[in-house]
Amino acid sequence: MEKSVKKSAFSGRKRNKTALYITAQQRCEQFGPQLHEDGGKLFCSACNVVLDHIRKSTITDHLRSKTHMKRLAEFSEECVRKKQKTLTTSLQCNTVAQVEKISVVQDFVKMCLEAGIPLEKANHPSVCTFLLAHVKNSDIPPSDQLRKVGLPDVHKAKQICVNQKFV
Ligand SMILES: [Zn+2]
Repeated sequence: MEKSVKKSAFSGRKRNKTALYITAQQRCEQFGPQLHEDGGKLFCSACNVVLDHIRKSTITDHLRSKTHMKRLAEFSEECVRKKQKTLTTSLQCNTVAQVEKISVVQDFVKMCLEAGIPLEKANHPSVCTFLLAHVKNSDIPPSDQLRKVGLPDVHKAKQICVNQKFV
C-alpha cells in the first residue's frame, strides 16, 4: 500500500518536471526580450516566426541557428535605424553628438534667461573661450541664431529627450 502511494507521488513529480503546461509567457521570461508572446503563442521577435514553446530544445536550437543570428543582426540594425530616424524628425538632427549639442545650446539659453544674462553675452570672447575649454559640445551659435534655434523649443525638446530616455 505504502509502496504504491510513493510510486504515484514520484510519477506526479516527473510529470511536473517535463513542464508540459509551461506558457509562452513563461518562456519569454526565461529567454528574454528576443522572444515575445502573442495570443498564447511564442514568437521570435527577430524572425517573426512561431516557436514551439513547450519544447525548450526547439527554442534553444532556433536561437543558435544561423538563420536566427542573421535575422537578429538585421533586426538590431533596424531598431537602431528606427530610433535614429525618430530622433532626426523630432530634433532635426541625426547624430548623438548633434543631439547633445542642441541640448547644451538649449540649456545654455535657458540658463541665460533664468539668470537674466543677455544672449549677446554668449558671443563674448571670454564666454566662448570658457565654454569651448570646459563644456563638451559647447559650440554655441551666434546670439541671433540662439534666439531662433534655442528659444521656442527648449521645453518641447527637453520633453522629447526625456521621452526618448536620452538624458
Ligand atoms: Zn529567430
